[in-house]
Amino acid sequence: MNYASSILGLLPGGRRAPGIGQFITKIEGYLPPDQVERVREAFDYAETAHKGQKRRSGEAFITHPVAVADILADLHLDGATLQAAILHDVVEDTPSSMAEVTEKFGQEVAEIVDGVTKLDQIQFKSPKEAQAESFRKMLLAMVRDIRVIMVKLADRTHNMRTLSAMPPEKRRAVARETLDIYAPIANRLGIHSVKLELEEIGFRTLYPQRYRIIERELKRARGNQREFLPKIVKAVRKSLADAGVNGRVEAREKHLYSVYVKMRRKHLSLSQMVDMFGIRIIVGSVDECYRTLGLVHGLYRPMPGRFKDYIAIPRVNGYQSLHTSLFGPNGTPIEVQIRTQDMHRLAESGIAAHWQYKTGEQDGETQQARAREWLQGMMDLHEGSAEELVESVKVDLFPDKVYVFTPKGDIMRLPRGSTCVDFAYAVHTGVGQRCVAAKVDRRLVPLRTVLRNGQTVEIVTAKGAQPNPSWASFVATAKARSAIRQYLKNLKKGEAAELGGRMLNQALEEFELSVKKLPAGRLDEVARSLSLRDGNELLEKIGLGERLARLVARRLLPDDDTRPDAAIAQPLAIAGTEGLVVSYARCCFPIPYDAVVAYLSSGRGVVIHRESCSNVAAFGKQPDKWIPAVWQKDQQHLFSAGLLVEARNRMGILAEVATRIAGEQSNISHVNVDSSQGDHSTILFEIQVKGRAHLARLIRAIRSMPDVMKVERSLA
Ligand code: MN
Repeated sequence: MNYASSILGLLPGGRRAPGIGQFITKIEGYLPPDQVERVREAFDYAETAHKGQKRRSGEAFITHPVAVADILADLHLDGATLQAAILHDVVEDTPSSMAEVTEKFGQEVAEIVDGVTKLDQIQFKSPKEAQAESFRKMLLAMVRDIRVIMVKLADRTHNMRTLSAMPPEKRRAVARETLDIYAPIANRLGIHSVKLELEEIGFRTLYPQRYRIIERELKRARGNQREFLPKIVKAVRKSLADAGVNGRVEAREKHLYSVYVKMRRKHLSLSQMVDMFGIRIIVGSVDECYRTLGLVHGLYRPMPGRFKDYIAIPRVNGYQSLHTSLFGPNGTPIEVQIRTQDMHRLAESGIAAHWQYKTGEQDGETQQARAREWLQGMMDLHEGSAEELVESVKVDLFPDKVYVFTPKGDIMRLPRGSTCVDFAYAVHTGVGQRCVAAKVDRRLVPLRTVLRNGQTVEIVTAKGAQPNPSWASFVATAKARSAIRQYLKNLKKGEAAELGGRMLNQALEEFELSVKKLPAGRLDEVARSLSLRDGNELLEKIGLGERLARLVARRLLPDDDTRPDAAIAQPLAIAGTEGLVVSYARCCFPIPYDAVVAYLSSGRGVVIHRESCSNVAAFGKQPDKWIPAVWQKDQQHLFSAGLLVEARNRMGILAEVATRIAGEQSNISHVNVDSSQGDHSTILFEIQVKGRAHLARLIRAIRSMPDVMKVERSLA
């Protein structure tokens, strides 16, 4: 079959579009026939799917995916990558579904296509320029299979080649994004040819004037070099041959964009940059690299301080070479790169080298494992010498981080597993301490929600809000955890002393005394007799339930006081504002004005139970630990209560009940639905109410709903 006639055409810039015929010939050169056949099938499928679609340039759409695959074929990538490249736009732009692609081409290919489609979707969130680095990391972190990135890079390369079909404004935006995001990714992954092409076109599009000037200067310099360069190459070759080193010497092209970047970074003039010669020497072994270095240093005088050993210390993308600069004939500087054939292959295709097809190795997973192993090795190599580089590679390719946006579009990097609370603390400790709610992608979610890549997170804060002790159980970042702990520790002490004072006063009341009425220093004195620091610590201990107020009160009496204890201790008045030292038992959910008792729990302070709670009977054996309790008047706070609703199974019933609850000024803090009974569901709500009256109103409101069969307060 010959497809060539249908899609051959000239691209803007005079470049010939790769025909499928040429493309097939190219891959037949390195892939076995069965893989070539699979690629062909992908082409047939994509051609039918894209039938009738045209690119902006007027060409048939199918020319685009074929060109993308062709770029990857130049890197000798495996069959699965090429199939995915040909199919990369069918799910997005045609009626084909991911399921169909999976069925026809298998899981491996489908997953690459899916990854590329997802990357395309996040492209619209344009990051601020300064954050391009984070954005690149995010892109990489989102990808599980590195081949997704390779298809994406090839896709971008072809779109850059055909950029002139775009309106000027769009052209500049795409070029900017390419220079900020995609060229550096290609560089990071070491895919040299792709990086160069993206940079050259991006630079030409964004700075046409500067591009032309550098281009002209490079041409002029090349004219001058025509005279010298062959002489230098010849001299180097002879020197290698004399020493018995087998090496290939080639002149190195200068690339406009790298000239431009170097000029700016090193503050060099254009003529200083372009008048440099560049040669590359490729030899057989590492040993020969160092010998060659010695030879060229003997041939021309080396420039001091310009030698770099990237063999011993490779660059972060795995690049290895020796770099040196020499004073050539007439003092013209020569830049020299020396490397082995293996290093050269890596320098050209980087990580792509690990996906290149090799006979007898088709298993994608082995290759993926190998690519990771390579990265791991690279990291080991860098250990200690360039921690920051190691860290950045790790983040890029081992996705143990999530990247999320603030509402303003800033990017935050958090460890995987981070929640909204971690995000709040990462923004600012103050935001964390006062956060009460969170929105993810504009939807209200619980604060414990685990964040995923690419989400936009907004934190709602309230004046006077405090961290909740339960946060410490789910936060993932050290910053959040230590801030919460520190806060709770301080708070608890203050609150405990406050409550302890109140409890002691109640106990003293029986003796017509109060803490204030005690002789000065009496409290501290008693505290020290109990091996405590001072009176305040004693009050803390009482508040935390570690000391019994009644016994302390007894000790505080003058030694000659012999009055017996009152038969019944004064009840503890609960204000509802005690904070952490008074908690409400989750076995019975007491609310104002239930009949309650208080249990003194050592270290946890006072726990309030309903009198009817079964645990009260169970703990009855320790009468010392129980004290009567009453609610103070005018409770203004919200308390948790359990609510059990039985309703007919119907779409939306849960939402309707929830709306009714919200309508009665109550919050839902937890829902559990059990719909295993067939025609009806049992829904268990944990809600926030002010007290029994509020709860009764709520129950009445829900009971009046048509599909609700039963509503009652539940124990737990
Ligand atoms: Mn595309």
